[in-house]
Amino acid sequence: MKREELIAPEKYNLVSEMERFAKEPKRVALKWENEVGETKQVTYENLMKQVNQAGNVFSQNGLKRGDVVLIIVPRLIEAYVVYLAALKAGMVVIPSSEMLREKDLQYRITHGDVKAVISYYPYVDQFEHITETQPLIKFTIGAEEKGWIYLDAEMEKASTKFAIADTNSDDMAFLSYTSGTTGNPKGVVHTHGWAFAHLKTAAPKWLCIEDGDTVWATAGPGWQKWIWSPFLSVLGSGGTGLVYNGKFNPKKYLSLLQKYDVNVLCCTPTEYRLMAKVDNLDEYQLPYLHSAVSAGEPLNREVIDIFRKYFHIDVRDGYGQTENTLLVGVTKGMELKSGSMGKPTPGNRVEIINDEGRVCAVGEVGDIAVHVETPALFKKYYKDPERTAMQFRGDYYVTGDKAKMDEDGYFWFEGRSDDIIISSGYTIGPFEVEDALVKHPFVKECAVVASPDEIRGFIVKAFVVLKEEVDSNDPDLTRNLQDHVKSLTAPYKYPRRIEYLTELPKTTSGKIRRIELRQKEMASVKQV
Ligand code: ATP
Ligand code: MG
Repeated sequence: MKREELIAPEKYNLVSEMERFAKEPKRVALKWENEVGETKQVTYENLMKQVNQAGNVFSQNGLKRGDVVLIIVPRLIEAYVVYLAALKAGMVVIPSSEMLREKDLQYRITHGDVKAVISYYPYVDQFEHITETQPLIKFTIGAEEKGWIYLDAEMEKASTKFAIADTNSDDMAFLSYTSGTTGNPKGVVHTHGWAFAHLKTAAPKWLCIEDGDTVWATAGPGWQKWIWSPFLSVLGSGGTGLVYNGKFNPKKYLSLLQKYDVNVLCCTPTEYRLMAKVDNLDEYQLPYLHSAVSAGEPLNREVIDIFRKYFHIDVRDGYGQTENTLLVGVTKGMELKSGSMGKPTPGNRVEIINDEGRVCAVGEVGDIAVHVETPALFKKYYKDPERTAMQFRGDYYVTGDKAKMDEDGYFWFEGRSDDIIISSGYTIGPFEVEDALVKHPFVKECAVVASPDEIRGFIVKAFVVLKEEVDSNDPDLTRNLQDHVKSLTAPYKYPRRIEYLTELPKTTSGKIRRIELRQKEMASVKQV
């Protein structure tokens, strides 16, 4: 695939992709289930009627092309309706997770110049003490709330016809805030044209959605991963999306995969890891699953081995950021090298560069970087030219992640630049150590960070969450785990210190926050 094929026509609105499928009355867009087993489903035709009704309500209330709207709706069909309606009207969406609290929302409302808020009713309280810099137009879904326009009731009265806004492909579509794994979230500007480029790469090449497929992409609305997969890729390719609005539980997940004959699965490494640790995996059969992908964090070899053994499927890794799209991945049919995140995706120019901005030699660790001419690269950080400029080196956008490339062009992830450990002059990526540790049958989850050390500068320290039945007071435990790592990696990488925790610090999207553990280490050593 050539770069040119990822460039959208000058006039383009991403909702046109979904509208095509509304002409086929039987095509099912979404199947929904909640924790108590209630179910619903909606066709594309019906979904687009609701979209049009919502679009009419927005414009009757004075909203227009270019206005910024913050949406906080969980895994409900209504989330799809309001996102599509706002985009169809040419408005800009700030995707917001229901886990955000008042201060997070305030930050987005002020920084993002928000004009309207759409909230599922249980979250309206979070807006009670918000300071408005301009009067907010507020819509609630699911129940009436004082001071809010009740969208459900207004939609019933509205027409099911609504014209699509005549947007340009470089009009802003999303203002997506990053996960905040390493600091304050950044407001990433994405256009309708970006959505086009993402859709052309991720859906056919990586997710491999085929006509008639049921696709389960587990990310929740509010995260860029939801925009990537369940929203753009599933609806943009006419698939049937499964939406499960319930807590993560590995056994429940496996039984849903079975119940809905899921064909394509897109999960986080943590979800895969916890499914792989379920006992009696042979009780589950997934004969319809033809594609399984993982993104967001490094994927452990353990997961790949177990899914191959029990479900005869390769879990394929994919790497990308809120700032871009799927940059590197294991596409279907490509030989899988366990532990590697794959190769640059078609049409995207991704390279590993050194501090001078030159492309690294094979085997040399450097920064994963994206050439500025890549269509799916973000435009800028909203109202933050300094941070935007900091992210570029020559003709490249620098991701902040380190990797090396092998002689076959496969990328091997080392870690986030800040997470890399330098010990006695050796550079150690935390991922390789974690990958080895998690293979041990006692280990449920782990995170590896640098811990200050007088002699070595820093040493490798592991924080380990043990499986429930394991006794952390066992005197041989630590040595046992250390020997295990030494047997799987270069021995100098083994964790010299191990601390046991009951859980790891994570972002609201479930990513491990090594920064927090590292800061704790720095602070505790200073005190000694
Ligand atoms: P912030 O930028 O606010 O600190 P964040 O970088 O976690 O947060 P995201 O854009 O959601 O926000 O995540 C992108 C990052 O996630 C990547 O830069 C990388 O560190 C990590 N990542 C994503 N996919 C993979 C993968 N397949 N393997 C390894 N790491 C991955
Ligand atoms: Mg980031």
